[in-house]
Amino acid sequence: MATCTACGSTTDEAPVTWTAQTTERGRQWLCESCTRENLRSIEGRLDEAWW
Ligand SMILES: [Zn+2]
Repeated sequence: MATCTACGSTTDEAPVTWTAQTTERGRQWLCESCTRENLRSIEGRLDEAWW
């Protein structure tokens, strides 16, 4: 059982497209679409920091 921490959607078994993050609050999941949005903002931040 996995729950997306961003949008709250749940799944019995997290597919490989979901992203797992282990934090101090335990394992947290991001669903496929939220992972994509997250990646975009991470990449945006990386670009700024990188250049
Ligand atoms: Zn989500």
